[in-house]
Amino acid sequence: MSERSVDGTARLAAVLWDMDGTLLDSEKLWDVAVRELAREHGHEMTDELRHALIGASGPDALRMVFTGLGIEPTTAALRAAGEFLERRVTELMAGPIPWRPGAEEALAMVRAAGLPSALVTNTKRSLTEFGLNTLGRDYFDASVCGDEVARGKPAPDVYLRAAELLGVEPRDCVAVEDSPTGTRAAEAAGCAVIVIPCEIPVPDGTGRSFRDTLVGLTVDDLEQALKQRG
Ligand SMILES: [Mg+2]
Repeated sequence: MSERSVDGTARLAAVLWDMDGTLLDSEKLWDVAVRELAREHGHEMTDELRHALIGASGPDALRMVFTGLGIEPTTAALRAAGEFLERRVTELMAGPIPWRPGAEEALAMVRAAGLPSALVTNTKRSLTEFGLNTLGRDYFDASVCGDEVARGKPAPDVYLRAAELLGVEPRDCVAVEDSPTGTRAAEAAGCAVIVIPCEIPVPDGTGRSFRDTLVGLTVDDLEQALKQRG
């Protein structure tokens, strides 16, 4: 259970990690698959559309691809595209997934400090399990996937569920995110956020702590992030 200091300020109770683009460089795998999907439909992905997709949840992401490419998003077409993407990303994820710089050391640091950790991702469970093969399950006390809650990021559901599973208050958690969508989800849940942009910039905001990489992350940095959120 989380503790509160006497003055009511938040106390660091857990760290909630985004997966794609934050711990693993897996956004690149989605990139490959979405570009192939666009090509199957006779289109080329634009950078603008690809950037809009980063951190979006499954059904939203697909609709955005279709709308952006001017393809009618019929139920059958969306289903076929969803199957294609899942098959391709599964194939790509089965290979080794590259880590983001400093990510493995940061997970180990949090473990050594005795802080609970959860993996909090918009990616569905079946694909997240591939990610966990690279990450190592021992680093996490819980994991929550996009298909296990009613609404994916930017809704707060995945973060709220992770805090619930850990038995802590979202307000006492620091989320680590790389995308604007994920950052909004963590904030909506009430978490402090350390933002490490990966593919696209994330706007500055009150209570957002920015870093270039996870290299050298300390417990003090996590506590500072809580303080900054206020
Ligand atoms: Mg991400």
